Amino acid sequence: MHEVIVIGGGFSGLAACLELERRGVPYLLVEVKRALGGSLRSQQVNGLWLDQGAGAFLDTLPNDFWDELGLADQRISVREGVATLRCGMGQLIEAMAKRLRGPRLMQTAVSSVGALADQWGVCMENGVMIAAPRVIVAAPARYAARMLVNPLPEAIPTLADFLYSDIVYVSLVFARDQINERLHFFRDVAYVYAFRVEDPARAGAGQVLFHVALRFHPQAHDPQAIVDYLTETVELPPPVAWSVGHWPESDPLSVFHDDHSERMAALMRLLPRRLALVNSDYTLEHSPHSGIVRLDERWSAAQEAAAKVLAE
Ligand SMILES: Cc1cc2nc3c(=O)[nH]c(=O)nc-3n(C[C@H](O)[C@H](O)[C@H](O)COP(=O)(O)OP(=O)(O)OC[C@H]3O[C@@H](n4cnc5c(N)ncnc54)[C@H](O)[C@@H]3O)c2cc1C
Repeated sequence: MHEVIVIGGGFSGLAACLELERRGVPYLLVEVKRALGGSLRSQQVNGLWLDQGAGAFLDTLPNDFWDELGLADQRISVREGVATLRCGMGQLIEAMAKRLRGPRLMQTAVSSVGALADQWGVCMENGVMIAAPRVIVAAPARYAARMLVNPLPEAIPTLADFLYSDIVYVSLVFARDQINERLHFFRDVAYVYAFRVEDPARAGAGQVLFHVALRFHPQAHDPQAIVDYLTETVELPPPVAWSVGHWPESDPLSVFHDDHSERMAALMRLLPRRLALVNSDYTLEHSPHSGIVRLDERWSAAQEAAAKVLAE
């Protein structure tokens, strides 16, 4: 019997599962995709780990967090207070997933959550329904808006009203001596944020890795065209390795609205007993660190979500 159903296996959902596991509470994790990680995913190209999603995080979680995941020596500094991992952000997801003993339903989309006497009925798109006393929805607002029509009709306008931007993440690796003159090439394109890593453990010996987020690129659907655009228009040498991740609905722009914090706080007050909502979309404050994942916020929000559903 599952005490809690966790919907969504990104960092927030996995963090909630870790917290439930720490408290000895049986749970079931449901994820729509083939792989865990949500917007954190890495791919190996020519022996180098490149991120298709966010590639760095604010390095503020305590050492215990990294020790427990066996990643204490895997952090690589990007700049002061910001780090990445030796094998990309996917390494974090893999380490978290390894520590989870609970069952997982993969490639299973949750379509709705509804009240069933003193339980929640979680309906999957394949027609199966599973009941549990407590549910943590760890999915972005645009999906939560569809799932929560029945138990939370008054929250749907807020959930459905998120504005997202279209972002393309480009990872490019060059031989260091070929790029000396162009270390700041991204300033010539409309970038959202960018960072570079020269640590050989991540970029390879004598190489430099760039991670650049571009907004509204007209050829976002064609990865090769984006790399050609950068190498030709911005005059870069051919990269040693590259990858492109396109996120048509990412980076909620709603956090730039003046009343975002109030709207999120009001949304949280609407949540019924034994149901929690946790995801980077529901962050209360606009982060001054654009593109740098606030793992600390996600981690504490997931712990609070677990505590909320268990206390009620
Ligand atoms: C372009 C971009 C920029 C970003 N910039 C920042 C930033 O500046 N700061 C920051 O803190 N974060 C940022 N992020 C988000 C960052 O990646 C997340 O904070 C972090 O990865 C935590 O993710 P999450 O678990 O909250 O959400 P997600 O990674 O979105 O995970 C949600 C999970 O729910 C699953 N799911 C969705 N619907 C269903 C369903 N119906 N049934 C089952 N499963 C479902 C998804 O497949 C996914 O695995 C950015 C992300 C992107 C893509």
